[in-house]
Amino acid sequence: MAEMRIVLLGAPGSGKGTQAERLAGRLGVPAISTGEMLRAAVAGDTPLGQRVEQIMAVGDLVDDTTMTAVVEERLGKSDARRGFILDGYPRTIAQVQTLDELLAAAGQSLDAVVRIEVSETELVRRALARRRADDGEEVLKARLAVYREKTEPLIAHYGDRGLLREVDGSRSMEEVTDEILGVLAVRV
Ligand code: AMP
Repeated sequence: MAEMRIVLLGAPGSGKGTQAERLAGRLGVPAISTGEMLRAAVAGDTPLGQRVEQIMAVGDLVDDTTMTAVVEERLGKSDARRGFILDGYPRTIAQVQTLDELLAAAGQSLDAVVRIEVSETELVRRALARRRADDGEEVLKARLAVYREKTEPLIAHYGDRGLLREVDGSRSMEEVTDEILGVLAVRV
């Protein structure tokens, strides 16, 4: 299969994680979720986990330097050599630049950034139906505010670079996957 380097963008509750896993299966590249990696570090009580636990608990972003180390190590693993679906990274303009630099150093670049668009009402409904520790109502509001302030600017940024593809995330899980494969022009 072809190499494929994709970033998924979307608010908390947009279904990024689910779609990342489904696309990984279809495209034969790993889904890399920085949120999952950090949660595993917290669960394992590692030094990284201890450092990020409180930040995650209130819905803030972990600092860019820490995230650079996390992502650099993960992208350096052999399974990511032929591509990846990034879920939850980059989340700031600084992270966009870091990702570009990491890829450029390996002679690589992104193929596409897929934005999964879901209305605010639907996001709140979905998120309140979930039971994750950081999805209490206050924390959810904080996560959405952080998304709007820090991550939403990435949409215009990647749009300007011609990398952005937008899909309607309010549809069924299967339809969203098909739409993403469609905008990526992938036949599998
Ligand atoms: P997620 O599962 O992607 O929503 O991530 C859960 C939490 O992990 C976020 O609310 C942040 O605290 C942290 N996190 C995950 N990815 C990043 C990132 N790229 N930059 C900063 N913090 C992150």
